[in-house]
Amino acid sequence: MIIAERKPLEEILGLIDGFDRILAIGCGGCTSICLAGGQREVMELSGEIRSKLAESGKKKDIFEYTIERQCNANFFVEMDHMVKDYDAVLSMACGAGVQFVADRYPYVPILPALNTTFVGVDKDVGWYEESCRTCGDCVLGETGGICPVTRCAKSLFNGPCGGTRSDGTCEVDPNIPCAWYEIFKRLKGQNRLELITKVRPAREWRNQTRRTVVQEPYRDRYEKVK
Ligand code: SF4
Ligand code: SF4
Repeated sequence: MIIAERKPLEEILGLIDGFDRILAIGCGGCTSICLAGGQREVMELSGEIRSKLAESGKKKDIFEYTIERQCNANFFVEMDHMVKDYDAVLSMACGAGVQFVADRYPYVPILPALNTTFVGVDKDVGWYEESCRTCGDCVLGETGGICPVTRCAKSLFNGPCGGTRSDGTCEVDPNIPCAWYEIFKRLKGQNRLELITKVRPAREWRNQTRRTVVQEPYRDRYEKVK
């Protein structure tokens, strides 16, 4: 899932400065699960904004609303009628959700309340770990399920840099394991160590421009994005 964290309150106050009526919208998807932008966090943020403004004798109208997902048009029907009544929308979705909302309501400023940090997994409650940098050319099948793009400090595709410490940690940070040492151990344990000598071609950077995926059954429906 996508992991995000709330921006500092002062930064959010700066973003909403100059807007009197604000629609603060939570997202019931990833940012809710990672406790950054769901219904509860929208209520908390609104309360903090009101308190902070009250200290300086200011006031804004803030209305809280949470939709199932801010990255899917099916969940916007009710909001379509609401947005025009506000000066700005404060979104607690990831960056993708914020942009989706901004494209849908281009006539009103859409302001991000979160910093989107990474694609990761829940290790435990409140503990998340980056797992994928969405490179679009997944090599996990040949690296024992360990991502060298995410877990190697240099995102090396073809084996270690030569700086691996004797205890198996990364030369960049002694607190993290060398990704390629981990890959070596995993492949060895699976009797597939020959894979580590496979040379992969240089990265394809073309896929770093904005990407769109249209699945096969829907190709006809979305003719214009083929
Ligand atoms: S190689 Fe790593 S960054 Fe690329 S898709 Fe696979 S898990 Fe994600
Ligand atoms: S020591 Fe290992 S993880 Fe660190 S940069 Fe080199 S290859 Fe990557």
